[in-house]
Amino acid sequence: MSGALQVGSVPERLAHNRYALDEDESHIVVDQDVVRSTGCAGVIARCCPAHVYTELPDGGLGVEYAACLECGTCLAVAPEGALSWHYPRGGFGVSFREG
Ligand code: SF4
Repeated sequence: MSGALQVGSVPERLAHNRYALDEDESHIVVDQDVVRSTGCAGVIARCCPAHVYTELPDGGLGVEYAACLECGTCLAVAPEGALSWHYPRGGFGVSFREG
């Protein structure tokens, strides 16, 4: 017996999370004009661990907010004004669970 902790892969551990989707309101809104003018779609899309964003062919940024882990990384890399982000309304969003 090795005694090593078996934690599983990141995708396996993330699969234990639960999401309560707010279908009436996205907690992420993209300002496409700012995204296109600053050329930031790629860096925002690549930084997100949950693959919430998609870099669009026209330089815009697609968003599927349902899988957001609420980590805040996109806010740290996005130029000012590119994203409007707030935590989901009460009762919605991600619930982390031990995997
Ligand atoms: S807060 Fe984190 S998980 Fe959510 S969209 Fe931004 S980078 Fe992705």
